[in-house]
Amino acid sequence: MSEPMVELRDVTFGYGVTPAVEKINLHLHRGQFAGLVGPNGAGKTTILRLILGLLKPNRGTVFVEGMDLRGKPSPCVAYVPQIETIDWSFPVTVMQVVLMGRIRRMGHRPWASRADQIAAQKMLAQLEIGDLGARHIRDLSGGQQQRVFLARALLAEPDLLVLDEPTAGVDLQTQENILHLLAQLNRAGVTILMTTHDLNAAAAHLPWVFCVNRALVASGAPEQVFTPEILNPIYKGDMVVFHHNGKLFIGQQPHAHTYHDVLPNPVLGDHARSR
Ligand code: ADP
Repeated sequence: MSEPMVELRDVTFGYGVTPAVEKINLHLHRGQFAGLVGPNGAGKTTILRLILGLLKPNRGTVFVEGMDLRGKPSPCVAYVPQIETIDWSFPVTVMQVVLMGRIRRMGHRPWASRADQIAAQKMLAQLEIGDLGARHIRDLSGGQQQRVFLARALLAEPDLLVLDEPTAGVDLQTQENILHLLAQLNRAGVTILMTTHDLNAAAAHLPWVFCVNRALVASGAPEQVFTPEILNPIYKGDMVVFHHNGKLFIGQQPHAHTYHDVLPNPVLGDHARSR
């Protein structure tokens, strides 16, 4: 098999004393469309940051295209951040955000060239937001913002696109549209790695998943990874996995305490009686 595009070799990293990720060995190959799944706090974003070269491992090595990153940014990787974590207070238009994707190529030139602007406009049109260039990014819907950041990443013409929770905070239809768009980009040759905490979306759309919970727990096709044996210890619950109309669905058994088990709240009870 060819050299992996990304390799984490025995990688351990902690923000403090406790490791956030431990002894991770992971291979991502050119042309893959893969998801990093796991519960909150499992280390998904940390792994993305290690691959981007924003964090340096305490132990082990991160290789991108065969190069040991040593905590330096990788030139061939573009990043789409989680839109929910962005500070929207700065005044910036859609076009200005997208043109940031060309900054590396602009070098010392402080302005975007005509060619950069034409390329940015073309990218916006391809992502079906061609009429939004002059709008303030803050005023767009979550799905439109996601496309703007995707346009910015793609303008850098990356070999690898890394996305942090691209479907968080958008409605189901927009989620489907974004995942469909990513599948199209992948078919056009872009290698994609994205985090998601949504196992059903991963099962429906991703051909490959890495399941993490501080360590790498399993990797493979969703059918191989999403089994109660693998998921139960990680999600600390009775996970239900079933097929319907040829599709894989994952759910969690409700906990013993349902709405009907909740005892009358003395405070609310008194309040209710006094009215
Ligand atoms: P996930 O993306 O799977 O939710 P993260 O990679 O964000 O997980 O976090 C993994 C662990 O590292 C968690 O315990 C989290 O609290 C911790 N962590 C994440 N970012 C920081 C940070 N900047 N400083 C300290 N601890 C952090």
